[in-house]
Amino acid sequence: MKKVRTRFAPSPTGYLHIGGLRTALYGFLYSKMNGGDFILRIEDTDTARYVDGSVQIIYDTMRDSGIMYDEGPDVGGDFGPYTQSERKSIYTEYAKKLVELGGAYYCFCTPERIETLKDDAGNMRYDKHCLKLSKDEIERRIANGEPYVIRQNVPESGVGSYHDLVYGEISVDYKDIEDGILIKSDGMPTYNFANVIDDHLMGITHVIRGIEYLSSTPKYNLMYDAYGWERPVYIHLPPIMKDAQHKLSKRNGDASYEDFVKKGYVKESIVNYIALLGWSPKGNQEKMSLNELIENFSLEGIGKSPAIFDETKMKWLSGEYIKEMTYEQFKELALPFLKNSKSYGIYDEDKLLSLAKGRVQIFSEIAEKVDFLEEFGEFDLELFENQKQKASKELAVELLPKIKDALRAIPDADWDNSNLFTVLVDLSSKLEIKKQALLWIMRIAITGKQATAGGATEVADILGKQKTIERIDYSISLLAK
Ligand code: GLU
Repeated sequence: MKKVRTRFAPSPTGYLHIGGLRTALYGFLYSKMNGGDFILRIEDTDTARYVDGSVQIIYDTMRDSGIMYDEGPDVGGDFGPYTQSERKSIYTEYAKKLVELGGAYYCFCTPERIETLKDDAGNMRYDKHCLKLSKDEIERRIANGEPYVIRQNVPESGVGSYHDLVYGEISVDYKDIEDGILIKSDGMPTYNFANVIDDHLMGITHVIRGIEYLSSTPKYNLMYDAYGWERPVYIHLPPIMKDAQHKLSKRNGDASYEDFVKKGYVKESIVNYIALLGWSPKGNQEKMSLNELIENFSLEGIGKSPAIFDETKMKWLSGEYIKEMTYEQFKELALPFLKNSKSYGIYDEDKLLSLAKGRVQIFSEIAEKVDFLEEFGEFDLELFENQKQKASKELAVELLPKIKDALRAIPDADWDNSNLFTVLVDLSSKLEIKKQALLWIMRIAITGKQATAGGATEVADILGKQKTIERIDYSISLLAK
């Protein structure tokens, strides 16, 4: 069997959006599960849409996400160049060949003439006007320096069919396909031409790409057939939707891989989630590393229906990855995000991060989880009232001085979560009060907040002895007002 070769062929038009990365990922997975090669090709022939810096973004994103290619512009390979703008002479040669084979022809029509072919709605169908030019006339006009394009010669009747591995039998009437431009007047190829030449010359066995190419594929097949080349296997992927009506798209400014990384998603979770956008694993395991994805991926699992991008689910997955991290792994990734918190630099960073770990799904939630430590000030005393915990303002007035005394008796060196807990539990049994009530009152007194990450003793541990006692004093004074 031929070695499987797949490719990702992005146009450098900005950030790598989620749909593009999914196409890359599926191509990568399919080649790797078959011991094949995965190729990166930069399709930069549409100079009007070119965005500076975006090729670098493509390289960086693929490396960063682990979707690494075996061949590509920056890593080389035997089938280069891998950037289309560097392949101009190859396209010219093959376009001439296609003209000789009858699959294409020179067209000298002026923009003014093309204008006259437009219908009321502005749609244009080329009328094959230049198809009938004689060889001599063509040569003479080219020699005269007249501008021209090369158009595909699509049969006027008949049906082009092929089998797509996801969408099944696809048939398109040739009369519905127009004689599109293959080589523009500046000598650059269009996507419609370059993709065929490159996929063939680069030995691509499986073309994996977005559904928008499903119905143009018959015209590409006409070229494969004209050259006498074997057609690749086609796998078109379902669209990714933001919701039932709207496609996810970079033109709408929808998030890219980079945006999600900046938002603090665990990188592996982004790749993992993207794998599930249109593909369902056989079992019910959804959390999978890149290696597990390679083991489990299958073309049969790719569905036809649009995939809905569900950020909540991706967040959940990210949280699952965080849960499995060791504290050291978590710290390395989380520290840059902790720096955005008001509490950073004031309290022990390991204590802050331990408080946050297990309570966040994405790293950017860390700051808000620990900000409360630095937001202490006048608060609503009704917070002491909690029927469920059997706490009340009256009880707070009575207990806080006793809590304070007990805390003051703890030597500085013993001030930690577990000692604090022992001391307070002992105090509650001595006073014959439910420990929940005491801990509730203490937490409200030192945070002034209904809900916080961490219980009373965890928070007191981070605040330290002096600050904890100062806050208790402050709360006592509030209650006395
Ligand atoms: N350059 C095309 C795009 O970005 C690639 C389509 C293909 O994979 O053939 O949509």
